[in-house]
Amino acid sequence: SNRIETLEFQAEARQLLQLMVHSIYSDKDIFLRELISNASDALDKLRLESLVNKELQADTSDLHIDIEVDRETRTLTVRDNGVGMSRDDVVELIGTIAKSGTAEVLRKLKESKDAAASQDLIGQFGVGFYSTFMVADTVTLLTRRAGTSGGTRWESSGEGTYVIADVDDAPQGTAVTVHLKPEDTEDHLFDYTAEWKIREIVKKYSDFIAWPIRMAVERTNEAGTNDASTGEAGAATTEIQTLNSMKALWARPRDEVDQAEYHELYRHLSHDWTDPLETIHMKGEGLFEYEALLFLPSHAPLDLFAQDGRRGVQLYVKRVFIMDDCQALMPNYLRFVKGVVDAHDLSLNISREILQQDRQIQQVRRRLVKKVLSTVRQLQTDDAERYRTFWKEFGPVVKEGLLDDVDNQEAILDIVSVASTRDPEQTTTLREYVERMKDGQDDIYYMTGESRLMVEKSPHMEAFQARGYEVLILTDPVDEVWVERVAQFDGKPLRSIAKGQVDLGTADEKESAEPEREQQQKDFAELLSWLAKTLQEQVKEVRLSSRLTTSPACLVGDTYDITPTLEKMYRAMGQ
Ligand code: ADP
Ligand code: MG
Repeated sequence: SNRIETLEFQAEARQLLQLMVHSIYSDKDIFLRELISNASDALDKLRLESLVNKELQADTSDLHIDIEVDRETRTLTVRDNGVGMSRDDVVELIGTIAKSGTAEVLRKLKESKDAAASQDLIGQFGVGFYSTFMVADTVTLLTRRAGTSGGTRWESSGEGTYVIADVDDAPQGTAVTVHLKPEDTEDHLFDYTAEWKIREIVKKYSDFIAWPIRMAVERTNEAGTNDASTGEAGAATTEIQTLNSMKALWARPRDEVDQAEYHELYRHLSHDWTDPLETIHMKGEGLFEYEALLFLPSHAPLDLFAQDGRRGVQLYVKRVFIMDDCQALMPNYLRFVKGVVDAHDLSLNISREILQQDRQIQQVRRRLVKKVLSTVRQLQTDDAERYRTFWKEFGPVVKEGLLDDVDNQEAILDIVSVASTRDPEQTTTLREYVERMKDGQDDIYYMTGESRLMVEKSPHMEAFQARGYEVLILTDPVDEVWVERVAQFDGKPLRSIAKGQVDLGTADEKESAEPEREQQQKDFAELLSWLAKTLQEQVKEVRLSSRLTTSPACLVGDTYDITPTLEKMYRAMGQ
């Protein structure tokens, strides 16, 4: 029998098609990504099925994807020799949208007037196969289920109905032929029959597809190039080329990938020709499977502090590129981390907004952050040199995390290094500082300022230096902010030596100095009240200090005042 039927798309499918025909998506190139992704899925399915079912009469010897173009007929075909579909499959899978929640999304889409919002909505269930109607007048699909004999031909112009027929001679797998709209061929940027265009899309979106994506390309024979005198054209030969690199390194076992391969991928992702400082390859199993390959660069990019700087982590779904700079996967303070996260159970068209709210993505992010922080911690103990490089390049950014990521505050404090009065050449970790604290010293002393020199020369420093206390010297703008937010490290309060009254000395010393102090208070009472009156516009209070050794006076802030540097920072920000 050769049943030919004209059937109607399910109501929801019809609505979605309408949206596609009227191109609500701005990026039409993605139709090819969707077709390649479906082909790749079909190959994955067949491979799995042939492993499970030894009886299956299917050819799995050369699983691959072909792209064919015909400039004359303006068609583009994506062909796979994968699992294919039965006639019933086609009706069910292509004629309807099975995904739950589709009706709801479509209703919202209809109401939405904002194009960007529409794209986000549609991303919730993925445009998939129907995206071909953004570029096509007509789409033809020819398929045969692997292990069965008869094939099916399906054709539609996306307008409510499709024609489905049995065919005898279909090859195993599926071929989707897109009859391109004329306007797309005329604009050369959207000429989907052009070799460069196809290469570009494959490279951008599908380079890491695990199956070969092949195309016949024309090559003019060198010896027979166009001869101007005779006007004869040289002999053109066609050659089959594989367009994708297929190197999904992250999906391969760690011990099968060598350093050079990792570094090549890093270059591809980062456009940085220096080798990364560290490579992190991890795998998440269980409910939400993913693979992650992350890199810590060995130097900071120029745009690290730029508002629109390029960020690092790409999201893939089962080897299909989804987006650059997936902020949902990496917090701002780790924006320099480069790499790939390949999640297995996400829609290809998931939007950034939806991702931000996705619980599983949030969980992946938490694990990635912990892993990055523990990797740096590990460097600190195993390879001090590389740790120092890391901290020099990225320390100021990582410290932003002390404000933004309260959950990991301790882990971040563990990897922080700061300058100190102990040694001008060397920084110290907070732990090392605590280990050196003097008997009877309860607080971690620090002072913030614009430069090391300014802090060292500050009168506040005198008493501490006289008594041999080590003081941390914090000169990054962000230091001003985090020291306010982080109350303590290892149970020891952080204390600014430039604020409030800092009591130095033992209880005994203080007691024996008491009579002398009282006398001094009396002797200087007149001077103090005169100073207070004279300076009343400038200062809150004038008091006798025991913290100075050589300077006659110093300015101190109240414990809860903002510091001079912070004041400048706020002023610079226009606040
Ligand atoms: P999705 O891929 O998200 O399921 P699509 O609209 O891309 O949605 O495809 C719908 C379904 O059609 C697929 O789930 C698959 O079952 C079937 N399909 C599409 N393309 C192919 C193909 N090349 N080979 C086999 N089945 C396919
Ligand atoms: Mg698909």
